[in-house]
Amino acid sequence: MSIKDSGPDVVIVGGGFAGVTAARELTERGRSAVLLEARDRLGGRTYTADHDGHAMELGGTWVHPLQPHVWAEIDRYGVETETFPVLEGLRQAVVSGGRVVDLSDDDIAQAIDALAQYCAPGTTLFPEPYSETWGPDPDGLGDRSMRQHLETLNVTPLLRDWVEAMCSLLAFGPIDQAAATEYFRIYALSGWSAEQMLAALSATKLVKGTRELIGAIAAQARLADIRLNSPVRRITQNDDHVRVELTDGDTITAPTAVITLPMNVLNTVEFDPPLSQTKRTASAERHAGAGMKCYVRVKGDIGNVAVLAPEAQSVNWVVTYDHDANGSWLIVFAANPKRLPMKSFDDIAGMQEALQPLLPGVEVESIVGWDWSNDPHALGTWCIYRPGQLAQVLPELRTTEGRLFFASGDSSESWRSFIDGAIESGYHSARHVDEYLTAAGHQTLSPARLNSPIKA
Ligand SMILES: Cc1cc2nc3c(=O)[nH]c(=O)nc-3n(C[C@H](O)[C@H](O)[C@H](O)COP(=O)(O)OP(=O)(O)OC[C@H]3O[C@@H](n4cnc5c(N)ncnc54)[C@H](O)[C@@H]3O)c2cc1C
Repeated sequence: MSIKDSGPDVVIVGGGFAGVTAARELTERGRSAVLLEARDRLGGRTYTADHDGHAMELGGTWVHPLQPHVWAEIDRYGVETETFPVLEGLRQAVVSGGRVVDLSDDDIAQAIDALAQYCAPGTTLFPEPYSETWGPDPDGLGDRSMRQHLETLNVTPLLRDWVEAMCSLLAFGPIDQAAATEYFRIYALSGWSAEQMLAALSATKLVKGTRELIGAIAAQARLADIRLNSPVRRITQNDDHVRVELTDGDTITAPTAVITLPMNVLNTVEFDPPLSQTKRTASAERHAGAGMKCYVRVKGDIGNVAVLAPEAQSVNWVVTYDHDANGSWLIVFAANPKRLPMKSFDDIAGMQEALQPLLPGVEVESIVGWDWSNDPHALGTWCIYRPGQLAQVLPELRTTEGRLFFASGDSSESWRSFIDGAIESGYHSARHVDEYLTAAGHQTLSPARLNSPIKA
């Protein structure tokens, strides 16, 4: 019997790391799936694009051995990693007091100490960062924004500007809209070490890009029929099955579904019966991640340089990606794109203006990027909860509703907001679906069938 004859065991909505991992895990458990992806590619908020001889990551990039799920996958498929090359002999600076201040090794050590001070509540709030629970929180830190928590930090103006820039970078949105607990959590996940946290956030990447890893996982999802260009518009469920309707009118029916839509996108699909009020409210208010990452080609060899800038600047981090005598590629992060004088990725003059406070005199030649916040299938960047959302929405976003199981990097247990969290959520959802189907008497495919691909 094929999927065509019997229908799949599960429909997976979304082909990012969460959905593709769920598809592979279901295959490993002898379950068949149809995976529906709206885009013409897998990867979702990871996107490796070829440009000027580089495999540029327009979305998720950095991975680290501290992230157990993604690292296990890297190991499993023998995917090559590299330390971000520019860390060698890197000139580090911060915009402070209206000028660019170069940082000595001592300054950097002090800055990392200041960040550790900022994150210190992570020790008591997240004593077991890989578990679902957190707290107790007698001081109400869960409702505190990164900005409010910054006001409690007693350090020099230079260090404060550095930590503020780091807040902007992680929030990737206005820091008064991002929860301070997001920093505490990642600090805890990094072994309660600010130094390890910085390494986890931006030191190691995949040589051929994230597309190699997701491709390897997808290739092993042999019992999944992966359909690109298949946007879902409506999902209904009753006592017997789930019915998924695509925008072209096609429908697929299965006993279960795994929904991997980003939190900000959940409300763009119609659910009948409607999703829980908490899920709908979370999707309507969105998470705070709304920044802009892009690659900028500039004239001349600017060497290995990284400049941070506090929130008042329209660019909050610029770091060399590659450089030679012909010119340099930079990666640019802007936490508040509304502040950018640049209006589109063609706006060379706007980007040049935005970069001047960080790299005076720099001359921009071209820009490559992806506008995640206006991408209808993402509506935001990585997931950074607003104050209060950790307690109010996280448990519910993961909660099964009838035959619908939920997986996403936006609601995973530990490295939420990361590729690692998306993979973790894919593992969990596949296990839960398999247990559900077993309890409902749905048999798995025989081991012989597992070895024969059933994709069309
Ligand atoms: C700019 C940027 C930089 C980042 N940097 C890092 C980093 O360095 N390291 C790191 O670990 N993480 C990073 N992240 C976060 C990481 O990329 C995400 O957390 C992770 O990829 C989320 O995976 P997911 O499968 O949960 O969601 P997604 O990847 O968003 O997958 C969901 C899928 O659902 C699809 N979809 C949406 N609507 C529909 C529909 N109606 N029908 C069918 N399909 C639909 C989408 O197209 C998408 O493919 C970054 C993200 C961004 C945007």
